[in-house]
Amino acid sequence: MSTATQFNSELRGQYRAKAYAAASAESPLAPMMIPRRDPGEHDVQIEILFCGICHSDLHQVRNEWSAMPTVYPCVPGHEIVGRVSKVGSAVTKFKPGDVAAVGCLVDSDGNCPECQDGLEQYCLHMILTYNSPDAHLGGVTYGGYSDSIVVKEHFVLRVPSNLNLAGAAPLLCAGVTTYSPMRHWGVTKGKKVGVVGLGGLGHMAIKFAHALGAHVVVFTTSPNKREDALRLGADDVVISRDKDQMRKHRGSFDFILDAVSAEHDINAYIQLLRRDGNLTIVGAPDKPHAIAAFSLLLKRRSLSGSLIGGIAETQEMLDFCGKHNITSDVEVIPIQKVNEAYDRLSRADVKYRFSIDMASLKSQ
Ligand code: NAP
Ligand code: ZN
Repeated sequence: MSTATQFNSELRGQYRAKAYAAASAESPLAPMMIPRRDPGEHDVQIEILFCGICHSDLHQVRNEWSAMPTVYPCVPGHEIVGRVSKVGSAVTKFKPGDVAAVGCLVDSDGNCPECQDGLEQYCLHMILTYNSPDAHLGGVTYGGYSDSIVVKEHFVLRVPSNLNLAGAAPLLCAGVTTYSPMRHWGVTKGKKVGVVGLGGLGHMAIKFAHALGAHVVVFTTSPNKREDALRLGADDVVISRDKDQMRKHRGSFDFILDAVSAEHDINAYIQLLRRDGNLTIVGAPDKPHAIAAFSLLLKRRSLSGSLIGGIAETQEMLDFCGKHNITSDVEVIPIQKVNEAYDRLSRADVKYRFSIDMASLKSQ
């Protein structure tokens, strides 16, 4: 039986929550009341304290992804940290008052090989935190730009107590999306790692690669981010528009993570890989990349993609952050400034993640 059918057979009550939503690709985000389901026996209800602003929120709100058309109204937000307000009778890991977090996933079928391997993000039936079919209430799921959310216990994470909550929120997407491919491709001490694009994902990638002991080189189009890159843990910074600087690194990288949100020439980075090096794309511009066959085959290089991370790995990443005291560098904003923040994000003008203080929504 599909997850959708199971849930439809047990439709339950709902309550109203405050949120910010976009009514169309051209509309600014504006206040809206949305339905949330009453928590069922396996559910955790969370009062949202902070929600990060991911560039994916911007892509989705502006309907920039042809493969994932946006259903309006759209309530974005998948970097959620909050406090548990209620739990269902079968919930064992959380109790009211606990700090809890939710990332990009809120459900999956639980039985497929991907789910069995703890890779729920690759499950054919995975349900994203927003803009996915909502089997409980109909319509689509609504994300974290809201004062509360109800999520199945399996998809709720624990935040180490030493982490600042505003800075921890972006770990739920920017954190795990950069941590997961680095673990998969064996980033360790002695490896030379490139990070392309110093934004929300990029700055987390620098912190993780540095903490894993790698030699980290950052590629940026913004010369004014050089000092920050070094402070965040980079060993070297390359201004990617400078061909001479790029040439110096040819054939030398074990691994490069591309976290750029817009169209750019990816071959310029593939050429920087050594034999058997890998470039993983996490950035998601809509326009397809043109790949030169020779840049891959000359040194048996590989090109791959990676999508967020599974639940177990997200918890592993959060625990790693607790141990190494890693959080995102955030600019905390009230929700009333969200449209201004989107404009700045589209100009790569944020150091390095906006985190919305949801207390501002209460007073709305
Ligand atoms: P972000 O904070 O806006 O950072 C993107 C960075 O890309 C910018 O800071 C800028 O870095 C660089 N950039 C922007 N425009 C560019 C251009 N025209 N040419 C070259 N570089 C440019 O975005 P983010 O939140 O980190 O997200 C990055 C991308 O990852 C987005 O496409 C997002 O949708 C995607 N994403 C994917 C996953 C996944 O699971 N795979 C998860 C989350 C997000 P510099 O100033 O340093 O050049
Ligand atoms: Zn995201």
